[in-house]
Amino acid sequence: MNLEHELAVLETEGRAAIAGATTEAELEAARIRLLARKEGRLSAIMRGLGQLPPEQRPAAGAASNRVKDILTELLDARAAELAAAQDSKTPRLDLTLPGRATWRGAKHPVTLVIDEICDVLAHLGFTRARGPEAETDWYNFIALNTPLDHPAADMHDTFYLAPGILLRSHTSPVQIRTMQEHQPPIRIVAPGMVYRRDPFDASHAPAFDQLEGLAVDEGVTFVDLKATLAEFARGLFGSSARVRFRPSYFPFTEPSAEVDVSCMLCGGSGCSACKGTGWIEIMGAGMVHPAVFEHVGYDSERYTGFAFGMGPGRIAMLRYGIHDIRILYDSDVRFLEQFAGVS
Ligand SMILES: [Zn+2]
Repeated sequence: MNLEHELAVLETEGRAAIAGATTEAELEAARIRLLARKEGRLSAIMRGLGQLPPEQRPAAGAASNRVKDILTELLDARAAELAAAQDSKTPRLDLTLPGRATWRGAKHPVTLVIDEICDVLAHLGFTRARGPEAETDWYNFIALNTPLDHPAADMHDTFYLAPGILLRSHTSPVQIRTMQEHQPPIRIVAPGMVYRRDPFDASHAPAFDQLEGLAVDEGVTFVDLKATLAEFARGLFGSSARVRFRPSYFPFTEPSAEVDVSCMLCGGSGCSACKGTGWIEIMGAGMVHPAVFEHVGYDSERYTGFAFGMGPGRIAMLRYGIHDIRILYDSDVRFLEQFAGVS
């Protein structure tokens, strides 16, 4: 094989190797293989120059240098290409771009109120409890001293899922489930959604939040109920809040009371929120009916207790000046985002 031919082969193969290099490391390997001073193929060819007749050496040397120049130029060009490609893959900071707005989640106003109520009650020894939203009529009515043919059952115009299975109409079934699982002393607070066949208008919703408390132990009296709820009202509405009790009726408590708190907006002098009375009704309460204890297997001669229930949605409406309950439940982000950062 003569030298001219070897140079031509080297040039062809060198061009292909350089063009085919896709990384800087591959390109460097090609450079070493082609042009390195000791082990490179061009150096090997040039070492053969010495065996040529003296008159052929200048032309052969010039041909070798030409190939060396071509390959060196191609190597440099390919190196620049690879560097440019690498550069375009590296993300760059554009400091003139406006910042991206971060989505700020917010607790729902009713959740804010529920958390606050639970915090106040936690200081009084109450633990959060939960229960299913689909209940049996035994847990929702019968165990709560409300036979299915009792007139009180008509108060809950209920969503039935199947015979005997319904969407709970109050959170009271959680009291039953807790008492079935635990012996006294018991102090729980049970928030959750409840369902009634009410119209969806400014003051009614077919699904809404309720929250109940239950305390059972030996020797619990109505005094404990009044003291607990007075302390609760001060914790939630401020140290000047007062409560008053009006006789009422619930199937599962006896005696029963409606509990009013002094109007947190006017302080008791009378305003539109309290309809000029100075009082706002916030909950129902009473001493647990002995029949309820018998349904869960408690000795009603030994244990007594009290229960209370309220609508945190209603308290949220008072607190935040909301006049239409529907806005609490129709998931309008323009309304909800106002509560971002509130805790
Ligand atoms: Zn008022």
